[in-house]
Parts: sequence; C-alpha cells; structure tokens
Amino acid sequence: MSVLVVGSIALDTVKTPMAEHADLLGGSASYAAVSASFFSKVNLVGVVGDDFPKEHIEYFGSRGVDLAGLQQVPGKTFRWSGEYHWDLNTRDTRSVDLNVFEHFTPTLAPGYAQTPYVLLANIAPGLQHHVLDQMEKPRFVIADTMDLWINIAKPELISLLARVDMLILNDGEARQLTGLTSLIKAGRAIQAMGPRYVAVKKGEHGCLLFAPDGFFSCGAYPLEDIHDPTGAGDTFAGGLAGFLASQDNATVTFENLRQAVVYGSVMASFNVEAFSLERLRTLTQGEIAERYRLFKLMSQFEVISD
Ligand code: AMP
Repeated sequence: MSVLVVGSIALDTVKTPMAEHADLLGGSASYAAVSASFFSKVNLVGVVGDDFPKEHIEYFGSRGVDLAGLQQVPGKTFRWSGEYHWDLNTRDTRSVDLNVFEHFTPTLAPGYAQTPYVLLANIAPGLQHHVLDQMEKPRFVIADTMDLWINIAKPELISLLARVDMLILNDGEARQLTGLTSLIKAGRAIQAMGPRYVAVKKGEHGCLLFAPDGFFSCGAYPLEDIHDPTGAGDTFAGGLAGFLASQDNATVTFENLRQAVVYGSVMASFNVEAFSLERLRTLTQGEIAERYRLFKLMSQFEVISD
C-alpha cells in the first residue's frame, strides 16, 4: 500500500548552539516522504526550483519515492532558516522565502488519486484542501500543521479538520488552536472539530494519542545528544503514515495507531541525531527494529511485591 505525501521541499539554513549549516535538504515533505519510505511506497507531491540540487532528487529516487508528482519549475526553491535556543526545544524562525512555493498548485500525477493513505504534511491549509479535492476515497487521511496557519489561515484549517481522519500537531499548537491550557481538554476539543484521532507531540516528552476508543501516551526515546531537531515532527508523521500503509488493514484501528505512533517516535529519534536528513541516509531496517524493541521494553513496567 502506498502513501501520498504533499508538503514543502526546502533548502534550510539551521543554527544550533553547536553548529550552523546552510542550504540543507529540508521541508516537511522531504522528511515525511523519506521517513515513510522505510515502511511503504511513497508518492511525493511538491515543487522545487531550478536551483534544487540534482543529488537530492536522486536521493529521493534511491529511497524508492515516486517522483512523478514532483514539479521542478523556473525560480528558486523554498528557503527556511531557523535558530535553536540552548535547550534545543524552542527556536526562532530567521527567514522564510516562499519563492516557487508562492505560485504552487499541487496537481496529482496519473494514478495518485487512488493512493489509499494520504499525509498532508505541513503546508498552507488551502493547498492541503486542494490535494484532498483530487483524491478518490482515500482510506485514511492525516494532516499536520503549524502555528503560522493557526495564525493566518484558521478558517481553512478548521474546515480541513472536518475532512481528515487524524491531525498531528505539537502541544503549543494544540493550545493555540483551542485556547485551552489542558492538553487533554485540547486533544478532545480538536477531536470534536472532526478528526477521529489526534496526536499531540510534546517534543522530548513524547506524544499523546487521542482516539474515539481510548488514549495512549508514548514517551520519547531518551537520547543523550540531539544535533538538529528540525523535521522531527515531519519524520514522526512520515513514519506513522508509512507504518499504517504497510499494515494494509481495511480499517485503521486504535491498536494499529498505537504501534504507528511508536514507529513515528523511533524515526523522529533517529532524525534528530544529525542535521538535515543525514541520519536517515545511513539508517537501516535493523536499527529501526532494535530501537522499536528498546522502546517497547522501556514502556513496560511491572509491580514487584515482596
Ligand atoms: P519541523 O521542525 O517539524 O517544524 O519542520 C521543519 C521543516 O519545515 C523545515 O525543513 C522547513 O523547511 C519547513 N517549513 C518551515 N516553515 C514552513 C512553512 N511555512 N510551510 C511549509 N514548510 C515549512
């Protein structure tokens, strides 16, 4: 089963307290598509300019990502720059240059409309709607978003929520969207806006999954060194979507989603170990399986009585 991923494909400049790197491969769709490709086939929908390095396109291809939906047009690729604070949990956006993104209309390549799983990675909600308008009865639709869209495109985002099965957002965004301080109340309030499932990410503190039939709290893998948190959320979403597609169940269940959240967390934990998508380049299936096993082990507990 395949996943259709639409989102940004970017050249990022990232500064952390330890290092700074310019013009790195980034963007929500880049992280999400590569992460999903470890589990399933991926159809990528996005746009790049004529300055986009050929080796990045070749890298997507080497991951088996279908590139028929990738438009390369005259102009400059979308650029984003961010600077992390000392705790690596918070960051300031230094610049955003939309460039070719400004006139981007995501058009599905032949055959893409039947893709069963859809990941609307972080991109303007209007474009997320436009992709959904072209899909033919997808089995499961996941949307990601960011604070910017809650600020400037809230009505489009709210109407999108009625069309998706799952929303992924971080704790600050969940509070911003609902005006509620309690994440539990916020998660439930977002479910009432449409998506049956809501995943609220809490950075290094893991993730909360709200389902109609339950609630799941997943920790984050305890890493000693984080080099670049950029794209952690997109890698999480990609791993989650890719895993769901690999299961190919007629209906996605709470049980599937709990496992998918853990696989998403595993993928995000690898991604932050290096800048850009560097860690994903060397990642193996064996490493994913081993970290999943450790994750499970760490989440188990038993009461020892004397
Ligand atoms: P994350 O760290 O999960 O928030 O994702 C960071 C990625 O999002 C970077 O690689 C950026 O290129 C991309 N990004 C930043 N701002 C935007 C935006 N307004 N629209 C789409 N993608 C963005």
